[in-house]
Amino acid sequence: MTTTTRPTIRFAERVTSMQESPTLAVLNRATTLIQQGVDIVDFGPGEPDFGTPLRVAEAGKRAIDNGYTKYTNASGLKSVRDAIAARYNRRYGLSLTQEHVIAGNGGKQELFNVMLALLREGDEVIIPSPYWVSFPDQVAFAGATPVFAQTDPGNHFRVTLSDIMAVASERTRGVILNSPCNPTGAVIRESELAQIVEWCASRDAFLVFDETYELFVYAGNEHVSAIRWFEQYPETVIIINSMSKTFAMTGWRLGYAVAHPQVVSALGKIQSHSTSNPSTIAQHAALEALAGVDEDVQRMYDAYRERRAFLVPALNGVDGICCADPDGAFYVFPDVRAYFGKRGITDSQSFANFLLDEARVAVVPGGAFGADDFVRISYATSMERIREGVARIAAAVSRL
Ligand code: PLP
Repeated sequence: MTTTTRPTIRFAERVTSMQESPTLAVLNRATTLIQQGVDIVDFGPGEPDFGTPLRVAEAGKRAIDNGYTKYTNASGLKSVRDAIAARYNRRYGLSLTQEHVIAGNGGKQELFNVMLALLREGDEVIIPSPYWVSFPDQVAFAGATPVFAQTDPGNHFRVTLSDIMAVASERTRGVILNSPCNPTGAVIRESELAQIVEWCASRDAFLVFDETYELFVYAGNEHVSAIRWFEQYPETVIIINSMSKTFAMTGWRLGYAVAHPQVVSALGKIQSHSTSNPSTIAQHAALEALAGVDEDVQRMYDAYRERRAFLVPALNGVDGICCADPDGAFYVFPDVRAYFGKRGITDSQSFANFLLDEARVAVVPGGAFGADDFVRISYATSMERIREGVARIAAAVSRL
C-alpha cells in the first residue's frame, strides 16, 4: 500500500502577513444571524442604504442596450476622465485635464495602486489613527511600514501637523489623510491641511488625500480638499475619490485618483497589467452621475443630517456612552470604555459581542480602526431602525 502525501500550498509572505481582522468577526457573526432570519439592527454597513439614483441606473442599463460592453482604455474612458477633471475644475477653479485622472475599480483600487507605485522597502507612511482598515494593510502589502499618528478625541479626532510630526522619521515617504474620516467622521481644518501639505512637499513626501465622503459634512463644518494645493504642489498631492458614497454606487465599483500625470501613468501601467479598465457599464452610469444628480444627492444628505441629529444626543443619553459630535461621513464613534470590566467585557470586540448577543445590535469594534475604547455605529440605515437600535442598546447596557 502506498501512502500519498498531499502537495502543500505555499503562500507568499505578503499574504501570510496580512491578517483578517479578528475584530470584524463580530460582523460576520451578525451577517450569519441576519441570514438565519434573526432580527438584528445592523449598524455595521459602510455604504449608503439608498439605491443608486434612478437616472444613473437607467444610464447603466442603456449602456448595455447600446452595446457598451467591451473593454475601454485601461485607465478609463476619456469622457469619464474629462468629466472628473471638469468637476474639480468647476468646483476649485483649476485647469486639470484627463491626464491628471485615472478611473479604476473603486477608490480602494487606486489607493492600492498608489502604494504599489510609490513605496519601497524600508519606507514609512504616516496614517492618522483611528484609521480606515485598509490603509495599513495596503502600505504593508507594498513592502513599507505603516506608522500611526494618534489623533486626539478631545479635538474630535481632527488630525494636526503636530500629530504627524510626532511620529515622522527620516524614512517617512508619505502621509495618508482621510477627510471626512471613516470611522470618526473627523474633518481636517484648513489651516492644518495647508501646513501638512507644505510639510510633505518640503520633505519630498507624498500626501494621499482620500475624500471619499467629501459631500457628507454637517453642522457648520466645511470640507477642505487637498486639491486646493495641487497646482502649487503637483508632485506631492494625490487625491483619491469615488462614486461609491457620493452617488450611492458602491456595487458599480468606480473610483478615481487625481494626480501628477506621471503618477497617473504609473497607476495606469499597474492597472493595465492587473484589472484593466473599470466596468464599461459603470463608467457610462458614472457619466450620468457626474453630469449632475444634485437632487438625489441632496435627499441623501438631508437624511444623513437628520439621523445624525437624532443619533448623537440619543446615544449620549445612554448611561456610559460618550459620543462626540462627528463632523462628517455617516458614522458616529462613541467611547464605550465605561462598560469595560463588567460581565467579561474587556475591549471593543467583547462589547460588540455583548451588544450582538444581548441587544441584537451589530456595531463594528473600534479595535479594527486602531481605537479599542470605541465602536463604530453607521447611520446608513433608516430612522426607524436607528430609534430601535438605540432603545435596544439602552436596555441591554442598563442590565450591566
Ligand atoms: N476610502 C474610505 C475611507 C472608505 O471608507 C472606502 C470604502 O469604504 C473607500 C476608500 C473605498 O471605496 P470604494 O472602493 O468603494 O471607492
